[in-house]
Amino acid sequence: MPGGGSPSGGDLDRIEALARELLAAGQGNGAGAAVAGELLERVARLRERWREQAQILDRINESIITLDLDGYITGWNHGAERLFGYAAAEVIGRHILFLYADPEDDDASFQDVFLEHGGREMEVRRRRKSGEIFWASLQLSLVRDVEGDPTGVIGYLSDITERIASQEALRLHARIFEHSDEGILITDAEERIVSVNRAFSRITGYTAEEATGQTPRLLRSGQHGPSFYEEVWRRIEVEGRWQGEIQDQRKDGEIYPTWVSISAVRNVEGMITHYFSIFSDITERKRAEERIHYLAYYDALTELPNRALFFKLVDQALIEARRNRQHGALLFIDLNRFKPINDTLGHSVGDRLLQQIGQRLRETLRTEDVVARLGGDEFVVALFDIARRDHAGIVAQKLLAALDPVFVIDNHELTVGAAIGISVYPQDGFDTETLLRLADIAMYRAKQTDEDGYAFYSHEMNQRALDRLKIENGLRHAIARNELLLHYQPKVDIASGRIVGAEALVRWRHPERGMVAPGDFVPVAEETGLIVQVSAWVLEAAVRQARAWQQAGLAPIKMAINLSARDFSSALPERVDRVLLAHGLAPEWLELEITESMLMHSTERVIDMMDDLAQRGVTLSLDDFGTGYSSLSYLKRFPINTLKIDRSFVVNIPGDVSDCAIAGAIASMAKQLGHKVIAEGVETVQQLSFLKRLGCDEFQGYLFSPPVAAEEFAAMLRQDQRLAPQVLA
Ligand code: C2E
Ligand code: MG
Ligand code: MG
Repeated sequence: MPGGGSPSGGDLDRIEALARELLAAGQGNGAGAAVAGELLERVARLRERWREQAQILDRINESIITLDLDGYITGWNHGAERLFGYAAAEVIGRHILFLYADPEDDDASFQDVFLEHGGREMEVRRRRKSGEIFWASLQLSLVRDVEGDPTGVIGYLSDITERIASQEALRLHARIFEHSDEGILITDAEERIVSVNRAFSRITGYTAEEATGQTPRLLRSGQHGPSFYEEVWRRIEVEGRWQGEIQDQRKDGEIYPTWVSISAVRNVEGMITHYFSIFSDITERKRAEERIHYLAYYDALTELPNRALFFKLVDQALIEARRNRQHGALLFIDLNRFKPINDTLGHSVGDRLLQQIGQRLRETLRTEDVVARLGGDEFVVALFDIARRDHAGIVAQKLLAALDPVFVIDNHELTVGAAIGISVYPQDGFDTETLLRLADIAMYRAKQTDEDGYAFYSHEMNQRALDRLKIENGLRHAIARNELLLHYQPKVDIASGRIVGAEALVRWRHPERGMVAPGDFVPVAEETGLIVQVSAWVLEAAVRQARAWQQAGLAPIKMAINLSARDFSSALPERVDRVLLAHGLAPEWLELEITESMLMHSTERVIDMMDDLAQRGVTLSLDDFGTGYSSLSYLKRFPINTLKIDRSFVVNIPGDVSDCAIAGAIASMAKQLGHKVIAEGVETVQQLSFLKRLGCDEFQGYLFSPPVAAEEFAAMLRQDQRLAPQVLA
């Protein structure tokens, strides 16, 4: 055997030595010498064969180890050397057991295994010189002598660690596949399901037999459009993988959310061979998340947002308000008389009272407003869609009014009130923290002046609120006390220079403040709804005046009145008709001025109403044209007679190039649509001559006359006052 020391090798040595002795002793003895010579020749041939065999064994990759019957190593080829890391010299003569990985495989078992299973292949664990343990396939066979008695053992070993590992891995993968909590679905390249696991069946309700051969469309819920799935497939195509949330449908019809990861499997050529999708039912998780979110962001008692959510929402709203240059306001609400109720009637009553209060506050506000409970008896409201800062005061009033009616809890009739402090964005502060602090300060001030009431943080806003309140209160009586009156501004025909119309402009002769301009009270009247009465009064007064002038024999002129958005209701045509009839004025002498903003939300209803008015012979004109969101398409739709170029464009004519261009564009557009054009606020000859060149038909403005009282206007008419011809000469 390789490495020497084999018993056969030792025998040969002895035979060779004997033969040489025989040769030496039998000098001249022909027969003995011949035998000795032959022996030596044989020994040499045997040695040659041994050498050849040893070489062959060494070249064999497998390791071959020979042992005697007691298990002591007698032979060790190169393969064994490579496999175990020991050189032959290190192992020959040692007992085979030291190569075992598991010490409990003792000597006895070696013999047993061998004797019982001689020749059988086994998988065993062995230890290398490095200490590393590996799996080997071992085959043992007996070496027998000529009589057939066993003389030793040959062991063939090969390293099967990798084979075992890949088998192990396959087994492991199969186990994972089957026992995974997540549903797994594998399709072929044509999207036909080839394999599903147990969790798949548990989640979807389909057995493996039912699913196999189908496509994953089986699970679709109809909650996602085709474009959703197209996008999913596109991503898998490009990136090899998609993951996200999908609403699927179980066999029993229930729709549930799943978290899905879909991947494509490609072969070495890069062709897709399979798709696999791993998914989990996230219904519970979502529920838990919602619950956690709810607990973190909502007040459990009133179900209103809590402080944390309030800050989040307001921070967000402030970002948008900054971008859109909007106003906003925070209202800090502190209840009055809550503490004694809570202390005397108990917390259960107190809790229910807070719930009802929260409800009333919520119901009073619009959906886009935020109302939150900060804790205790403190609530806070955020408003971000107010057109004007003062509107926060109106909302505060509404909230106070909502708390007015008694609360009934367990037969107790309870009244609470509140003090409300208001801070305004961006005037008072830019961030939630500051605005809340200032609203809190304002609330304390409100409490000091008047137990139930509201106050702005800024002094100026308080003053405005106070003014507003005065105007509102005064205006309620103004009509009854006959404090309203009309002034009239002539509308002048540019070509003839003659007065062809009048615009009635309302004035309020306030008992303390003197004459109040409409800019100071019309907005308040619009907000409070009082405008409807004001307009009714104006319509009546203007029509009566126009008729009176006609009856007095003055040249007939068209009387224009201004309308507000609130007047623009379906009752308007009837109302106008009634007034005209009552005073005997023909409809062609009445003109209604409306603004673009009133047409912004143009519905079929609005168009119908305008058509109705036009058919009755009333003229409609579009006031302040150019200041709103004018669009040609709506202009075409409305039966409008006249466009009034807003004063803001006239004021800088002819100096400002772009204003000139705008005025020019409005004029030519109006002409094309067959409308008349009138310019407002004309103060200079230069303005007028420019407007004339543009083709304006009429003008209004201080150049001819400011709005004047009825008698003065009548005097102008009577004298047939005209624009001096030299003005435009
Ligand atoms: P408006 O309808 O555009 O009325 C024209 C305004 O411009 C009037 O202001 C008028 O006095 C002013 N004005 C006229 N010519 C000149 C000028 O040459 N230079 C300058 N600087 N101003 C001139 P007023 O009377 O203060 O009315 C303001 C606005 O109030 C009106 O604008 C109208 O929108 C509204 N208004 C007036 N009366 C009524 C009414 O009876 N009902 C409604 N709903 N609104 C009214
Ligand atoms: Mg007007
Ligand atoms: Mg105007």
